[in-house]
This record gives sequence, C-alpha cells and structure tokens, in this order.
Amino acid sequence: MNLKAKIKQIINVVFFFSTLFLCSLTSFSQDEKESIPSLEGKNVLYVYGGWEGHQPAESVTFMVPRLRAEGANVKIFDTLSVYTDKKIMSETDLIIQIWTMGTITEEQFEGLKKAIKNGTGFSGWHGGMGDSFRDNLDYQFMVGGQFVSHPGGSIDHSIKIINKNDPITEGINDFDLKKTEQYYMLIDPNIKVLAISEFVRERYEEPEVKENKVKGSTMPVVWKKNFGKGRIFYSSIGHFLTDFDVPEVLKMQMRGFRWAAEGKYHSYEKTISPAYTQTK
Ligand SMILES: [Zn+2]
Repeated sequence: MNLKAKIKQIINVVFFFSTLFLCSLTSFSQDEKESIPSLEGKNVLYVYGGWEGHQPAESVTFMVPRLRAEGANVKIFDTLSVYTDKKIMSETDLIIQIWTMGTITEEQFEGLKKAIKNGTGFSGWHGGMGDSFRDNLDYQFMVGGQFVSHPGGSIDHSIKIINKNDPITEGINDFDLKKTEQYYMLIDPNIKVLAISEFVRERYEEPEVKENKVKGSTMPVVWKKNFGKGRIFYSSIGHFLTDFDVPEVLKMQMRGFRWAAEGKYHSYEKTISPAYTQTK
C-alpha cells in the first residue's frame, strides 16, 4: 500500500470512530425530535437530603450524570441553606430537590419561593418533592400536592397517560410498575395532570385490618403547574431508584426537568386546569 492510500485509510478509520462517538453522545444526551429544548447551558441546582429511605445521596450518582450529559451546569448541595444564597438562586434555571420530610426554616423557604416566583423551575419526584416539610403549607401550595399514604406498600400498579398532547407525555403509552409505592396524595384541583393511577384492589391492608377502602379512586401521578413565573414539574413515581429503569418513567422525568428549566426564557404557559367546574 502506498503512502497516499495508507493516509486515506487512516482518515476513513478516524472519521468512522468519530462519527460513532458523536452518535453515541447524541443518543445518551437526548432523543431526536424532542420538542422541549435540552438542558444544555442551563444552571441546575441539585439539593438532596432528608429521610434516607428514599436514597437521596444515591440519587445524585444516578441523576446528575444524566443532567451533565445534556450540558447542564449542575451545582450539588446537601443542605437547604443554599436557598438563602441570593447570588446562586438568582442564577439558577432549575432546582431539583430530593428531600423527604425534614424541616425548612422561614429564611430558606423565602429564598426558594422568591427564586421560583422570579422564574426558576422547581422539580423532583416522589417524597423528595411531594413529601417535604410537612409543616409548611406554603410549600405544599407551591408543589400542588402532598403525600398522605401509600396503600398496600410496595405493589404492582399501572400508570395511565391522560394527556398525550403535552410535550412531556407525547408518544408515551400507559405502562406498569412492579412492587413499588403508589402514592395517595392530597391534590390542588387546578394542577395540569398528565398521568394518573387507579386504585383497583378490593383490599390494600392485611385481612385483619378494617380498611379505608379506596378501590375506584384515581390519583394524579405526573403534573405541571406554575408558581409565579416559575414552572413546577412533579412525578410521584420513584420510591426506588430502580423505578427509573422503566423507560417511560425516566423519559417523563427528564422532559419535565427540561420543561421546568425554561421558565425564564418563555412566556407564561397557562397550566391552570380546574378539575371541578360548575354545571348549569
Ligand atoms: Zn417512598
């Protein structure tokens, strides 16, 4: 083989592997044809702590590389005191909070609330967002729901998508979850619900227990809403991090993060969707 042919061969090999590398990067970071912009260049604050049963520290290892793979600038904190840092809060596009139970001081909550009202997004999943700071009503008002029970503990159940026109749930079909918590929550009836779950069992408690029967109830699982200029996205799925092994769960969560991070860059999206309206 002469020199020219050899150089050509080397160029071909380099081109092949760099194309392969770029393709793999693209597929890891974001699907093609997604209608919500990626997290590229967005400032994300990841705040974790609270009850350890929900694996807050492990969630960092699981979720943060996925955010960074999209190009997000992620700052990680294991304290709520970051909510009082005016500079960081004003520069943040999206706060992801995984903090079950615990307490938040008035000053910390005021910092969080102010940032969200000014357009910073707020998101999380399961108890890390929907069961934080049980004594703070203003927090629950902001989130749009509060965990109260998980009948039956870890159980098989199904998730139904009730709004397929939203970019967060577009193309996602109903799916099943195995042996994990089905949250029963108190809900703001004006949130925009994207997915629900039904309680279908005759019994959720042990046979000897007199049961508060919930068969026939439906429960919002995934929703979006606004708080001031800020976008709020919540999913109640995720008692175990392995719940994200179900592709639909991870896909909706990532799309929800992306949507919530856009509050400062887009005009107000109306999300108020009254569940109860007056009939004539
Ligand atoms: Zn749980």
